[in-house]
Amino acid sequence: MTVPVLSVRNLEVEFLTRRSTLRAINGVSFDIAKGEVLGVVGESGAGKSVTGLAVIGLIDPPGRIAGGEIYLSGTRIDHLPPEEIRRIRGKRIGMIFQDPLTSLNPLYRIGDQIVETIRTHLNLSETAARKRAIDLLAEVGIPAPEKRIDAYPHEFSGGMRQRVVIALAICAEPELIIADEPTTALDVSVQAQIISLIKRLGRDYGTAVMLVTHDMGVIAETSDRVAVMYSGRIAEIGPVQDVVQNPLHPYAKGLMGAIPTLAGEDKRLVQIPGSMPRLSAIPPGCSFNPRCAFAFDRCRVDRPEPLKHGSHAVACHLFDTAPGEAAKETAA
Ligand code: SF4
Repeated sequence: MTVPVLSVRNLEVEFLTRRSTLRAINGVSFDIAKGEVLGVVGESGAGKSVTGLAVIGLIDPPGRIAGGEIYLSGTRIDHLPPEEIRRIRGKRIGMIFQDPLTSLNPLYRIGDQIVETIRTHLNLSETAARKRAIDLLAEVGIPAPEKRIDAYPHEFSGGMRQRVVIALAICAEPELIIADEPTTALDVSVQAQIISLIKRLGRDYGTAVMLVTHDMGVIAETSDRVAVMYSGRIAEIGPVQDVVQNPLHPYAKGLMGAIPTLAGEDKRLVQIPGSMPRLSAIPPGCSFNPRCAFAFDRCRVDRPEPLKHGSHAVACHLFDTAPGEAAKETAA
């Protein structure tokens, strides 16, 4: 069996506050294969960015990984000392954040930053690293890269800066890229270009990509599979076409109903009533139960675990053939 590039098993992340311990991620598991793009979608506060930060070892106190395991190409990385995980970041895991200026130092020419990253991780001379940097800038669509390499970040537009960040993220040939809302700050036309660039990473380099976004449209365009997160857990995960066209979890159904389509322009978009609970007020049982039109007694007591259902895995008692069977028929 092929080892996944990223394997997250039962991940738990908590934040210690003066009053209590808040569980931001509660038993999240998923894999990403070589060349695969996994979209992770959910409302703000669902835990998608925290999951990405846990993978790259950037959960800062008072947050901490409280349980579970994270494997990169079969090697466990969640308990490594900070020095080692820092070496893995940049070399084996590339990162793309919403604001390109998070990754770029405004005081240095972009070429110097890319060359330094290349030379930190790959055994190349200054000249060879500079040539590679120019090639990468061309690869991500920066015009006249041999000139632009000596420009400063502020001399680029937002879209061009995000391309530079992508060049920086891939320059050490990482196995995995974590992209957190990489297109959110960009104009729609630039978004499409960045999306096709991210798609190409998987296809051309075999890079596995974890794409975190609140935008289901971006996921539908980019991803092979999608994980829908709610209140720190995965509600549903499966091939993107299957989940978009036939979502099973009531929350995923609501989320997919909220994607505008050209065919249904005059149709009112579905709104999910209520809002996601705060971390300090997650209800017992299924955390979606106060908002769910299908909730029944068991939902208020038992927490549903993701179970295989066709090509999907879904954490909902409606799809559990054990004790919820009667309720399932009622709700269907
Ligand atoms: Fe709704 Fe119950 Fe399924 Fe949760 S487990 S989504 S409350 S039916």
